[in-house]
Amino acid sequence: MLENSDRTWLPEMGETWQKTLSWQPNPAQQILFQRLYELICQGNQQLNLTRITDPMEFWEKHLWDSLVALKKWGIGNGESGMGIRNCRVIDIGTGAGFPGIPIGIIQPNWQVTLLDSTRKKIAFLETLVENLDIKNVTALCDRAEKIGQQSQHRESYDLALIRAVGTASECAEYALPLLKIGGLAILYRGQWTEDETTALRSPVTQLGGIIESVEKFTTPITNSIRHCLYIKKIASTPAKFPRPVGIPTQKPLQ
Ligand code: SAM
Repeated sequence: MLENSDRTWLPEMGETWQKTLSWQPNPAQQILFQRLYELICQGNQQLNLTRITDPMEFWEKHLWDSLVALKKWGIGNGESGMGIRNCRVIDIGTGAGFPGIPIGIIQPNWQVTLLDSTRKKIAFLETLVENLDIKNVTALCDRAEKIGQQSQHRESYDLALIRAVGTASECAEYALPLLKIGGLAILYRGQWTEDETTALRSPVTQLGGIIESVEKFTTPITNSIRHCLYIKKIASTPAKFPRPVGIPTQKPLQ
C-alpha cells in the first residue's frame, strides 16, 4: 500500500466532468479511479499494458474517453442508463480494461465481461478487479471469433464495446454476433468520415445490424477528435459469422 506522499494523484476534474458529461464521480468512484490508475501503473512494470501513464493523459484518454460513449443516456444513470437495469455488457479486446472497467465502476448494476485473447492481460485483470472489489466485472480469455460461435455467449449481450481493436468492419463482425436482437454495439473510433459510414453499411447489414448514429466528440484537454458509432442489432446474425479466427482481419466484410 502506498503512503499518500508517495502517490501520483489523478486529477479530480469535477468541473470538466460536469461541463462535458453533466456528471461527476462520487467520492467512492473517485477512489476507485485512483486505485485503478495506481494498479495499472504497477502492472505496467511487468506487462506492456498501456503507454498512457501520465495522470492527466490517463484521465482524458482512459477515463473520460471510456465514459463519453454513454453520454446520450446520462452518465451514471444506474437504473435507467440505456433503459436496461441489468445490462449485460462485453468489452471486446479490452487490453488494460478500457472502456469496460470505468463503465463497470459507474454502472454497478451492469454485468461487464472484459474479453481479451492475451492470457497475461486477463490474468492481470482478474487480480485487478479483485483488488478493486468490483463484483459486477469479470474477465475472460478468448477470441471474439470463437465466443461468437458459442451458445453461452452468442446473442447474449445487450451492449458490446470495442475500442482500438481493428478496422470498423472487423469490429462489427466481432460485436454483432454477441448481441441480443435489440442490443447495441458501440465502436470507439478516432477520426471518422461519412464515406467510412457509407462503406460500413453493407458489412453491418450482412451481420443483422443498422448504423443508428455516429456521434463526434472533442476531448476536453487536448481537443482530440473522437467518434462513437452506435450500431443496433435488428435481426439474427447469420450462423457463418463471425468467421474463423483471423478471417475478419484478412478478408474484411465489404
Ligand atoms: N480496448 C483497449 C483500449 O482501447 O485501451 C485495448 C486495445 S489494444 C490496442 C487491442 C487488444 O485487443 C489487445 O489487447 C488484443 O489482445 C485484443 N484483441 C485483438 N483481437 C482480438 C480478438 N479477435 N479477440 C479478443 N481480443 C482481441
